[in-house]
Amino acid sequence: MSDLDAIAAQLAASPGISLDAESARPVGGGCINAAWHLSGAGSGIFLKTNAPSLLPMFQAEAAGLTELGAAGSLRVPRPLATGVTDASAWIAMEWIEQGEGSAEEELGAGLAEQHRKTAGRFGWDRDNTIGSSPQRNDPSADWPDFFARHRLGFQLDLARQNGWGGTLTDAGGELCQRLPDFFSDYRPAPSLLHGDLWAGNRGVDSEGHPFLFDPAVYYGDREADIAMTELFGGFGADFYAAYGEAWPLDSGYQVRRLLYNLYHILNHLNLFGTGYLGRAQGMVDRLLAETRG
Ligand code: ADP
Repeated sequence: MSDLDAIAAQLAASPGISLDAESARPVGGGCINAAWHLSGAGSGIFLKTNAPSLLPMFQAEAAGLTELGAAGSLRVPRPLATGVTDASAWIAMEWIEQGEGSAEEELGAGLAEQHRKTAGRFGWDRDNTIGSSPQRNDPSADWPDFFARHRLGFQLDLARQNGWGGTLTDAGGELCQRLPDFFSDYRPAPSLLHGDLWAGNRGVDSEGHPFLFDPAVYYGDREADIAMTELFGGFGADFYAAYGEAWPLDSGYQVRRLLYNLYHILNHLNLFGTGYLGRAQGMVDRLLAETRG
């Protein structure tokens, strides 16, 4: 039996799932996993596979989709099941047929509404991944401490282990210590974040409504999601206008944007290598200069 047949057999045994196991068609466009469309009830099933050891990554993705879906602000695929065979871990979710347009305005207003969903503390009730890197979410009442420890500090430690210690470790450590300086007159709420909001993780369904997928959910400063939309581009003026109309950003965002995107650049350094080292170091230097006034 091929691995895909083994997964299809497990899926078919899950309650409430019907599928045509012969229909698997590969889907491109992802960064991390192999992906497939399987025909079945309704529009069918979207299946992603990776190494068996990555089952917790898919379980966390399913939990993140459930959390975002429960907020009811923006469409996300409904997770169906996760599992593991001898050769692969897998996640199955509702297939969303993609349509035309970009639905910028609806996405901006919907994201602001999603960010209004808050929790008692920053973090989440489980860890997950950002790309394929671990992401720690230990709940905390202190946002600068959370971001210094579990976001920048965690990636800086990984970078050191990967051979990019020295200046980056020293300057990055100093930045982590100074993090409260960026929050002297700004107290963010723990907002429900998508967590990996680049243009490659948004789509438009066949009815023209926006949807989000592939999240790295946690509760944090909403500015972190907005910052990431700006890191690689692909979000239009109407998106920012609709978001800002629903919930204006604090003026200090212009500086903190760099802080929040440093996390993703450090993650890219750790995932993809040296090409990101100069950019990471430059961002740390600029942020340190900000704190020195
Ligand atoms: P990866 O985890 O490898 O980055 P993604 O979750 O980003 O993979 O999905 C890969 C591609 O599959 C996306 O670029 C998107 O076009 C498409 N896709 C994602 N989720 C769905 C879905 N539920 N239904 C249909 N297509 C999807």
